[in-house]
Amino acid sequence: MSSSWQRRIERAEELERLHPFAAQILHFYGKIARFQGELYGRLENASGVHQPKPSGAEAGPPELPELLARFPDFLRLIEQNAPPQLQVVARELHGASEATRAELLNEVWSGSDVTQVVGIHQFPTRAFLQPYAEFVRVRSGIKWEGYTHALCPFCSRKPGIGVLRQLGDGGSRSLICSFCLAEWQFRRIVCPNCAEENPDKLPVFTAGELPNVRVECCDTCKSYMKTIDLTKNGLAEPVVDEIAAIPLDLWAQERGYTKLQPNLLQM
Ligand SMILES: [Zn+2]
Ligand SMILES: [Zn+2]
Repeated sequence: MSSSWQRRIERAEELERLHPFAAQILHFYGKIARFQGELYGRLENASGVHQPKPSGAEAGPPELPELLARFPDFLRLIEQNAPPQLQVVARELHGASEATRAELLNEVWSGSDVTQVVGIHQFPTRAFLQPYAEFVRVRSGIKWEGYTHALCPFCSRKPGIGVLRQLGDGGSRSLICSFCLAEWQFRRIVCPNCAEENPDKLPVFTAGELPNVRVECCDTCKSYMKTIDLTKNGLAEPVVDEIAAIPLDLWAQERGYTKLQPNLLQM
């Protein structure tokens, strides 16, 4: 399994011990990450091999046959381990025809904003395709130095997490795509949703028990995103630390802020 998945799995196990309030969801995430890491490895091994696409799938991902073959196992994993409302979604999809699942994979992959599949109904398909998106991005070798926009330079989706990295005496901010996990630089004091630049309108909150996670809010568009401060803890894994900081989501939502983009678990 590639080292990035191994690190995420180990971080989830560590935070599961440290944060009892998030233990259940991190345990579930750990199972998903294991599956994702294994799928990523399979895709790497299969890459270069050209497989014929099933008819009617011209617009879909090239590796669709490999993905379709693995999807039922992923749905079974969710049925057995997820919180109840996600189990229901996975069970429905598991009972559907392969054509329906192929259509859904294509639709979520193309990521159009007019998608019929919203909220938690996206969850199994999105979580399943996430390692594939990462695989396709890495395989493309595309670089985006100098890119400064708020949407992902590779797949044009919204960022899901902010990251602060040490730069000189301070920290530089980057954003991480909610789907393909591309990371790109973004100005530190500007809202990634509405481009507000007034520091007075961009409050940042932290909580004592999670010192390396910041809630970055915007009072103009009432959106928020969580930023993982790697200058405070260089061992953090942004995707995992973001999931673990559930209390901060509840806190922000109680104050009327809406998350810019739900995470992998649609939270
Ligand atoms: Zn992306
Ligand atoms: Zn804003």
